[in-house]
Amino acid sequence: TGRLYDPVSGLLNVHLELSAAMGIFQRIFEYLDLEPDIEDAPGAKPLSKLQGRVEFRGVGFSYRPDAPALQNLSFEVEPGGMLALVGPSGAGKSTLIGLIARLYDPSEGGVYVDGQNIREATLHSLRSQIAYVTQEPFLFYGTLADNLRFAKEEATQEEMEDACRRAYIHDFIQSLPEGYETMVGERGHRLSGGERQRVAIARAILKEPRILILDEATSHLDSQSEAFVQEALEQLMRNRTTIAIAHRLSTILAADRIVVLNEGRIVESGTHAELLDEGGLYAQLYHTQFVPSEG
Ligand code: ATP
Repeated sequence: TGRLYDPVSGLLNVHLELSAAMGIFQRIFEYLDLEPDIEDAPGAKPLSKLQGRVEFRGVGFSYRPDAPALQNLSFEVEPGGMLALVGPSGAGKSTLIGLIARLYDPSEGGVYVDGQNIREATLHSLRSQIAYVTQEPFLFYGTLADNLRFAKEEATQEEMEDACRRAYIHDFIQSLPEGYETMVGERGHRLSGGERQRVAIARAILKEPRILILDEATSHLDSQSEAFVQEALEQLMRNRTTIAIAHRLSTILAADRIVVLNEGRIVESGTHAELLDEGGLYAQLYHTQFVPSEG
């Protein structure tokens, strides 16, 4: 207790540490509600609690005027459904998921949640219902409890422990001499990659988002650790709309639909079996990109 840092200087510290440690995407997304170009539209309304339908309608986006990163994307994910994004490096997968939390706005078309254009919603009400989980989650210097409460400041010890149980990390935390008060982050107790990921998953569970964005960079975990992380992810994905940049075969197989991006366009879409049958880009990627290890 008494470990809650001052919100302003705390954020500044986090900001500085994060600048060095991670890409701008994750920094803004996970920790700050600030993005210089994106702000609430005049008259923006808070979204009420979402069902979680996500829809792209004719979305285009360019970082630079001459080179569109995404063109004419349309697709829909039902509440609680799961969409897997695959495609070669540079295809636009990260750009696409950035649009869902309004890290930037489309130059054409629109992104809709529960039928509402997210441009007309307040950023806070949108981002508070979205969680973003990567394979390289960032823990700032502070206690495990601080790191977990980042998702939900007012979380009780019980809620926190419950989220950690569901993320298969509670027993590990309990086994540390200082438990939830263990200092982690750059100068603190070093957690393994798999432990860090499960803390990040617990943080996301605590947030109770309706929409989950998952960026599965190819992981370097051993198979035991991998299995734990996989179970934790399954807990997290349950009953939430999930949009995943997928590298694990198990994620791809769990998806209701796979969307294949290439050079900023959707080139194929369907289930794993359908796409393999087509013998196109997905079939090619399947043999080179996906990790077939876990069962
Ligand atoms: P990877 O699998 O390698 O992560 P990706 O499919 O996620 O790739 P994006 O990162 O979305 O691809 O990039 C899509 C295109 O937009 C690429 O051509 C990339 O060079 C370009 N791009 C990405 N970010 C920026 C940026 N901040 N400014 C300018 N161009 C960018």
